[in-house]
Amino acid sequence: VAPAGAGSESPAPPVCVLVLGMAGSGKTTLVQRLTAHLHSQNSPPYVINLDPAVHELPFPANIDIRDTVKYKEVMKQYGLGPNGGIVTSLNLFATRFDQVMKFIEKRQNTSQYVLIDTPGQIEVFTWSASGTIITEALASTFPSVVVYVMDTSRSTSPITFMSNMLYACSILYKTKLPFILAMNKTDIIDHSFAVEWMQDFEIFQDALNQETTYVSNLTRSMSLVLDEFYSSLKVVGVSAVLGTGLDEFFVKVSEAVDEYEREY
Ligand code: GDP
Ligand code: MG
Repeated sequence: VAPAGAGSESPAPPVCVLVLGMAGSGKTTLVQRLTAHLHSQNSPPYVINLDPAVHELPFPANIDIRDTVKYKEVMKQYGLGPNGGIVTSLNLFATRFDQVMKFIEKRQNTSQYVLIDTPGQIEVFTWSASGTIITEALASTFPSVVVYVMDTSRSTSPITFMSNMLYACSILYKTKLPFILAMNKTDIIDHSFAVEWMQDFEIFQDALNQETTYVSNLTRSMSLVLDEFYSSLKVVGVSAVLGTGLDEFFVKVSEAVDEYEREY
């Protein structure tokens, strides 16, 4: 993709980077770091916050769901708990997403990337009608990629790792978009152990042999199934806190965009 605004020919459309992952995996911190990185490259992104319940955003958002829906008010008004409040806020916002699309379209010439931070709890976005509406609106208009953020430091047990990968796999099938696995928090632990597990079934089996539970038998079979998922997966190790791995991250994003353009 050529940089937006280069030359007089019509610029390439911005790439939408949808950041998903378990609560605490580091989505918000990664969006902050990517934003700073792009600014330093003179390519400021268009940034959208879709988390209605975040207290403080560490990055300046061009569009912030909190400006449109007040999730505490939504809780009171509809008599909901925190989860219901977040889901309903996202639903209310999704009904106006056509306006957000217009804003993004206006920014075509100035931003090469649109970064989208999603609610802390992943299922609020991935298993809701509003998440689907928003994803489809973006992906039908702009080249779009999903970044699944994994907390590498919390995935060192083979069984936890596997559950995380099964979740990632389910999101791939649900969104059907080019997919990047960002192994985050590599400042705490290097992600090479996880890459090895994905590349070499035997090494993963050895790690599993340390576990003797019933679940590990199931995991053994599952890992064969996931082999197919791994073989097409783009993986990159990053530290959102330190800002390492970001150049490789953007290489993976362009590869994913090429895939998007072949398939859509
Ligand atoms: P989110 O719920 O996915 O948006 O996660 P946050 O971005 O809010 O991060 C959750 C916690 O993980 C915070 O305490 C962050 O400081 C921390 N965190 C995020 N990225 C990293 C990282 O790369 N390394 C380390 N050590 N901590 C991180
Ligand atoms: Mg967050």
